Amino acid sequence: MSKIINVIKGTKDILPKDIPSWHRLESVALDVFSRYGYKEIRTPIFEATELFARGVGDTTDIVNKEMYTFEKSDRSLTLRPENTAGVVRSFIENGMSRLSAPVKLWYHGPMFRYERPQAGRQRQFHQVGVEMFGIEQPTADAEVILLAVNYLKSLGLNDLTVEINSLGCPTCREAYKAKIKEVLKPEFDNLCEDCQNRYERNPLRLLDCKVESCKEIFEKPEIKKVIQSDFICEDCAEHFSQLKSYLDTMGVRYSENKLLVRGLDYYNRTVFEIKSNNLGSQNAVCGGGRYDRLVRNLGGEDTPAVGWAMGMERLNSLLPEVEAEKLDAYVVSNFPKEAFMLAEKLRAEGKSVEFDLTNKKFTKQLEKASKVANFALILGEDEIKSGTVSVKNLATSEQNTVKENEVLALL
Ligand code: ATP
Ligand code: MG
Repeated sequence: MSKIINVIKGTKDILPKDIPSWHRLESVALDVFSRYGYKEIRTPIFEATELFARGVGDTTDIVNKEMYTFEKSDRSLTLRPENTAGVVRSFIENGMSRLSAPVKLWYHGPMFRYERPQAGRQRQFHQVGVEMFGIEQPTADAEVILLAVNYLKSLGLNDLTVEINSLGCPTCREAYKAKIKEVLKPEFDNLCEDCQNRYERNPLRLLDCKVESCKEIFEKPEIKKVIQSDFICEDCAEHFSQLKSYLDTMGVRYSENKLLVRGLDYYNRTVFEIKSNNLGSQNAVCGGGRYDRLVRNLGGEDTPAVGWAMGMERLNSLLPEVEAEKLDAYVVSNFPKEAFMLAEKLRAEGKSVEFDLTNKKFTKQLEKASKVANFALILGEDEIKSGTVSVKNLATSEQNTVKENEVLALL
């Protein structure tokens, strides 16, 4: 026997028994997002590496450590680690800025990040997400957060916490960054290695650090005071306060978290996360925010935008499994030709039907039928002679013999 080949570490098969749970995430998304006017988009799974370097940002963990990059014909290509950059590329390339705003798009599919695999963290995982282009007003931020909350509610998830923050605009954030650096300077040697690396390149990312010793440093009174200060400018503050008042009106409960900065470079003003209280340490199900400069950075016209992404594995782990549906009917017969014909007739009418291709004993076939189907369609010698079928309801054991053309109505 040849040696078996295993699935790659950090990736998983989604087996037939799991598929109904995945279909639920996708069909509820289609249903809920359509009600808000979103259209689905599907972009390629690999893109030019430069798209992510510029789009996600070269100070991020994703671009620095987590990308699956390969060369082909002298081009550097990368498996998408997230889908916002790809959607923005497509928005620009297909002239979607000429459409009337807002342009609302949603997607779902696999993403790839070279991370340490653990519960809730894979190297190939799936996201469902939305992007809204063209609206600067906080109504857009409020609507995408409301959409996220309603999607989760429609799935049956209520025990969730929405956290929001405002990162301000590039202008007001620069002063804040400088202040953060200044107040953390005396602590530099006590910061973890990652934070020391981020200190120059992306100082706000420090606040997101999960290392205990760093978290303790941010709790020191003089440092906490700077972190908690209201650094954002008047316009940004007004935008944020309007967002909060829309959320209040819509009954969305949220808390403000000044340590919430998000991993990606492109966010400005609103950022948010939705966390589950039942997920352990990888507890974020949804992350998003506003990214007004990204379209321009990737060569398009200045277009404000806001969006989010959710981890589909994490959603499924919070939800009860969806049971696979049984067949509508299983034909029980030792006459394969007649069984074929009956099955095909019902399939043509949209019913799911199987029969025993190996012509096993009648009793074995009945046993199988009761496991896999809602009805057994018994086609013995008597039935064939009289042009009838005995229809057995496998839940109630009730059985009726009817004319062949009356079977469909009973299923
Ligand atoms: P985290 O803090 O968990 O690493 P992130 O900030 O990297 O999340 P985003 O890039 O915003 O996450 O992705 C949005 C969502 O996608 C996350 O909230 C999470 O549910 C999911 N997600 C991200 N990375 C992974 C992964 N490696 N495996 C499974 N799900 C993931
Ligand atoms: Mg991450």
